[in-house]
Amino acid sequence: MPPPVFRFAPSPNGFLHLGHARSALLNFDLARQSGGRLLLRIEDIDTTRCRPEYEQAIYEDLAWLGLTWEEPVRRQSEHLALYREAVDRLMREGLLYPAFESRAEIARLVDAKDRAGPWPRDPDGAPVYPGTGRHLAIDERDRSLSSGAPYALRLDMDAAAARADPLFWTERGAGPGGETGQVPAKPEQWGDVILARKDTPTSYHLSVVIDDALQGITDVVRGQDLFWATGVHRLLQELLGLPQPVYRHHGLVLDEAGQKLSKSTRSTALRDLRAGGTTPAQVRRLVGINPA
Ligand code: GLU
Repeated sequence: MPPPVFRFAPSPNGFLHLGHARSALLNFDLARQSGGRLLLRIEDIDTTRCRPEYEQAIYEDLAWLGLTWEEPVRRQSEHLALYREAVDRLMREGLLYPAFESRAEIARLVDAKDRAGPWPRDPDGAPVYPGTGRHLAIDERDRSLSSGAPYALRLDMDAAAARADPLFWTERGAGPGGETGQVPAKPEQWGDVILARKDTPTSYHLSVVIDDALQGITDVVRGQDLFWATGVHRLLQELLGLPQPVYRHHGLVLDEAGQKLSKSTRSTALRDLRAGGTTPAQVRRLVGINPA
């Protein structure tokens, strides 16, 4: 049996905090205990928010925690052509369509829908896209495309879900409601998700499944905030003929008010804790992970 392959996949759009430390340490420990490998992947496709100094800080903070990982580190921004191929494939298969509405226009459309009765929200609480772009007449779509207007490429969720049998994933951790074992994927909860944009040929959902497959990841260990996104990932794996890893979602580290930590909560940033004299062993304790 080849060894299991784990990955820690942060986005360099802020400094790592205690929540990242929990994920990174879990991945590291599980890889160690199982004789597996640990890869580090930099998820830097969002060029407006990612910065080289945050990427540098990721290496420093992880090394300080005592982690080691295999080189070379994969940086998603260096593989856009690969993601574009998958987008083209889904496009050819009629599963993607361009949607031209701005965020403000979508908010107005949702408002109007809400007035007629509560419009569905996705598992993150955001309103599901009302699907207006899917019904755009071909000539109107062509006109907007040739005008150079910005657009998002959205997955036609009904068409995509109809291509796959009911899907499940193997959960070795637990979801927010304790879901574990064979969990039914419910990608339709998310509606017509964005898989690419005019100027960015990919999205979190698309590049994460492509990279997990390409890097031979067998075990995805990450926070529970991504639990329901796994349904979209399972569907994309089916559509693109990619293997499925097993998943282990872990509970989030919460702040004193019981909220999920964010990259702007400086008090829990690893570099601030380090500057204040906290040791790596104390970080392990703070995030509830036994000494290595
Ligand atoms: N890049 C994502 C984040 O920083 C994590 C992706 C994943 O583990 O699937 O939240």
